[in-house]
Amino acid sequence: MRMQIDILSLFPEMFESPFSHSIVKRAISGGHVHINPINFRKYGIGKHQIVDDTPYGGGAGMLLKPEPIFEALDAIKEERPETKKRIILMDPAGKPFDQAMAEDFAEEEHLVFVCGHYEGYDERIRTLVTDEVSLGDYVLTGGELAAMVMVDATVRLIPGVVGNKSSILEDSHSTGLLEHPHYTRPASYRDLDVPEVLMSGNHGKIEEWRHKESLRRTFERRPDLFKELELSDQEKEWAKEFKQN
Ligand code: SAM
Repeated sequence: MRMQIDILSLFPEMFESPFSHSIVKRAISGGHVHINPINFRKYGIGKHQIVDDTPYGGGAGMLLKPEPIFEALDAIKEERPETKKRIILMDPAGKPFDQAMAEDFAEEEHLVFVCGHYEGYDERIRTLVTDEVSLGDYVLTGGELAAMVMVDATVRLIPGVVGNKSSILEDSHSTGLLEHPHYTRPASYRDLDVPEVLMSGNHGKIEEWRHKESLRRTFERRPDLFKELELSDQEKEWAKEFKQN
């Protein structure tokens, strides 16, 4: 099944480069996904295709008017009435985006991202959406960069897009842990040596080392994730060791 992704934006050209390289490009050419940026200005009001207006009650900035977004979504629904749609509003006040959400999106057949601009949205636009999502606790100029990140993180999880499935399953945040350190050749570079165990050929020991280093990295960098883990006896021993270091 090919996933359909529509992106409502006032700056659809912004999406050309990010989706023209590497894995997302291959996902498109391989028929896993169709990505369709739509300039919703074409549903703007009047000769000047106006999409924004001042807020009722006064205040700073301009708001996106409801009509262009309502009509753009009507057109998408008319064009593909058969698909179940997830309509995702880019919003710094939304739920923070994370790997679990990307995994959830990757199972859908049709995603529609709505990219805001200016001061924000007329509140009635929220009645149309299934999800309100934030890229993080900061304010971007518009929703485009947030949508690019979310599309990228989602598309690589569509089955068949990344050849080596285990590389995805072991990624940071897929397991609740950060990923362990990696090394490649040369074995020694500027007095920086690859850990012996990785060159030992002992797969059991290598797996154990990787798991411990994954735990260590999570302990050191993300105590919020670490405290959610249910540790085995061995892992509790390691945790004591990390605390002492
Ligand atoms: N006044 C809004 C507020 O305080 O929540 C911020 C508006 S922002 C300048 C314009 C648009 O950029 C937003 O409507 C949203 O679509 C997008 N945007 C900004 N920051 C974002 C974030 N962290 N995550 C997702 N979208 C964001």
